[in-house]
Formats: sequence, structure tokens, C-alpha cells
Amino acid sequence: MALSGLDIYKLLPKTNCRECGFPTCLAFALSLAKKAVSLEKCPYVSKEAKQALDAQSQPPIRLALIGDEKNKSEIGNETVMFRHEEKFHHPAALGFIIEDSLLDTEIKERLLKIGKLHFERVGQHLKTDLIAIKQTKDTQRFIDVVTLISGLTSVGIVLMSQDTKALAGALKILAGKRPLVYAANSQTIADLSALAKENASPLAIKAESWDTLPELTKKANELGVLDLVIDVDTKNQQAKVIAEMTQLRRLALKKANRAVGYPLMCVMDKLASQAEVIRAGDYIAKYAGIILLNTFEEWAVLALLTLRQNIYTDPQKPLQIESKLYAIGNTTENSPALVTTNFSLTYYTVLGEVEASKVPTYILSVNTEGMSVLTAWAAEKFTPEKIAESLKKSGVEEKLKHRNLIIPGYVAVMSGDLEEKSGWKIVVGPKEAAGIPTFLKNLS
Ligand code: SF4
Repeated sequence: MALSGLDIYKLLPKTNCRECGFPTCLAFALSLAKKAVSLEKCPYVSKEAKQALDAQSQPPIRLALIGDEKNKSEIGNETVMFRHEEKFHHPAALGFIIEDSLLDTEIKERLLKIGKLHFERVGQHLKTDLIAIKQTKDTQRFIDVVTLISGLTSVGIVLMSQDTKALAGALKILAGKRPLVYAANSQTIADLSALAKENASPLAIKAESWDTLPELTKKANELGVLDLVIDVDTKNQQAKVIAEMTQLRRLALKKANRAVGYPLMCVMDKLASQAEVIRAGDYIAKYAGIILLNTFEEWAVLALLTLRQNIYTDPQKPLQIESKLYAIGNTTENSPALVTTNFSLTYYTVLGEVEASKVPTYILSVNTEGMSVLTAWAAEKFTPEKIAESLKKSGVEEKLKHRNLIIPGYVAVMSGDLEEKSGWKIVVGPKEAAGIPTFLKNLS
């Protein structure tokens, strides 16, 4: 049974020294009870109290690692049902299923295409994480395909097979790379647990039914395998799959049910790409830790990576870029200069339009703590004083002959004040970023 905040408080030093970042020991205890903070934050917990609290401070959903140190995917270790309560910590790992029935040339082609599936969005690099090798042929073919693929990619591998000889051979080839062994059921739990333990690999457990799942995870633990992933049956209707994953997450987080406190995974059925993306998108939102896809079309993967990026962004910390002067293109002393905020989405939208205009331009990004233009203006983070100060600090005055600054159309109201504070002539730009290319072209 999970300890309450008051139970935890009784075990703390009660000195309210604030070193944990909380104003009181009680505030820290309440946060610890919600698993929103780790016990290590308090340096004064006694040994006895630590022992009593250790179980409490363990993440309710265990962290699982797939892949070697350089290319590891970390999944699980989530602490909340809804991202606004704190944030989601470890983005769902996305992988592609490759069957061993494909010809070697087809496998190489597919890997080449998959290798190109990485994107830049709002300053972050988005990429997929795993390759899942699925056995449909004999033992030797599976081992040969594992050998082929492991020589061509360094990403984490999922071994999809029920053939213990094939798995043993594949695990030997992948020694030290921690592939995920997929997936044990009530018949294979002992054999696959032995293989996973011997090779220090994580093991996927099939959620065959609500009755057998806790028995299987407990059995795997008893056999020495602690890093588990629960494979949810995606053959069910989409709503049922989501309901099951929600219930499993709730049991782990709210009822501290350790037997189901593992990351979840979804292996997608072969569907039309659109249907697969819609389903996979739902599973990213609630609450898959791994999703294995059949489609590897660029648009489909970009849609899922974008969704994953949004879901796993800390809602309390907007994505920000460094506040400074950016030179876009071959700028000169006559290039236009415009100002915007340091909210990533705003900056990259403006950047995209400036690049599209092909007019070399300076963009001054002002520190608004990650707020967009209108929000920052309303919150007094994008003020004439702040912009004038940023202009001075940025060094733009040494780079330009002119003193004309383009401001977003939505804050035209600050023009007069900003002219006074900065000494620059203010030019009111378009309200929407989409108007920037025409605006810049008409300046020259
Ligand atoms: S660091 Fe420990 S003793 Fe100090 S306020 Fe936090 S919980 Fe209390």
C-alpha cells in the first residue's frame, strides 16, 4: 500500500531547511507521495527512513532500456496519468517491423529508407528508435537476417520470435546490445525468461488476460528478469486497447500495483497506412512506451514523430530557443532586421517564412520565457524596454548601417514607445508570419 503524504512526513527530519527546493518538509512529503520528486532531493533522510521510503520512491512504472549505451531507448518511468500534472518523461519508442521473408536486397532497401526518416522541427531532431525483426521462416533464416540487419544499423533491436533456438542464436549475435525479446506467454515464460536473463535483455510479456498478466510478470521477476514490457493485444477494437492501457497505467500509478508497473507496447496490425497512423497516434497519446509499425512512409512517420514531440513536451516549460541575434542568409549592413520572441514555435515559423522570402535578414529573438508574441505582450514580457535592451545587447547596431526595426503587426501599439526607448525607427510588419515573404520582398 502506498504511503500517504503524512506517513512520509513523519519519516522526514522536519527541519524545513528548504534544501530540497520545497518550502517545508510537508510540501516535500506531499510531492513525494505523488511521485513527482525523488527522495534523493533531501540530503538529511536517515538510513532507517530511507529504507522505509525506498519502496515508495521507486518509480511506479519501471524504466526499461533497449539497445546499447550509445543507441539506447529508454521507456517507462512515468509518474502521471495526464501530462499537465507534471510531464511525460520518456517518449514512446517508434520502430519498424521487418519480416525475415523479405529478400536481403529488400531488407537493405528498407533499412536505407528508414535511415533517412529523421526530421528537424522547432529546433529538435526527431527520429525513430527501433527495428523489429519478425520470424516467419526457419531458425537459420531468422539468425541470418539478424546478422544482416545488425551489421547495417546501430539502433535498438526487437527480436520477434517464439523459436528459442532462433532467439538464442540472435541474442549471441547481438551480445551487449540489449535487444528486446518479444514476447513471452504462459507457455514460453520460463524459456524466454532464461534467455533474457542470460543475455541481460529486457523481455516483453503478452497481456493474454487480466488474470494471467500479473502471474507472468511475477514469474519473470522470480526467474531474474526485472526489465519487462507489457505487450497489449492490438487486435482488439481501438477503444478497447486504449481502455486497457489506461487501466493498466491507472493500476500502476494509483494502486501501486507493481505486477503491472511496466511500460506498455503495441505491435500494429498490417493496415492501410492512414489507418495505422491514426491508431498509432492514439496509442502514443495513451499510453504506449513502444509502437512497432508496418508503414514507413515519410508522411506517416513525420505525423507520428510530431505528435510524439508534442505529447512529450513539458507543458509547463514551453520550448525555447536561445535569445540572440540570428543572421539568416548572406546578410549585409543593409539587411532588414525584425524582432520576435524566443518561443520555438514562433521563432521557427518566422524563420521558415524569412527563408522562403530569400531576403537575407536579421532576426532578433527576445527572451520572453518561451511565450508567443501576443501572450508575451499581455504578460509584459515583450515590452518596449525589453526589446530596446535586447537590441543593445545583441550587437545588431554594429552590423547594420540603418536603424529600422520590423515588429510583429499584432504589437503595432508599442511602436511610439519603442521608438522612444530604442532610438530606432519602427516599421510595423505583418500580423501573421505568412505575410513576411511579401513584406520583405516589397522592402527592397
Ligand atoms: S531537504 Fe529534507 S529536511 Fe530539508 S526541507 Fe526538504 S525534506 Fe525537509
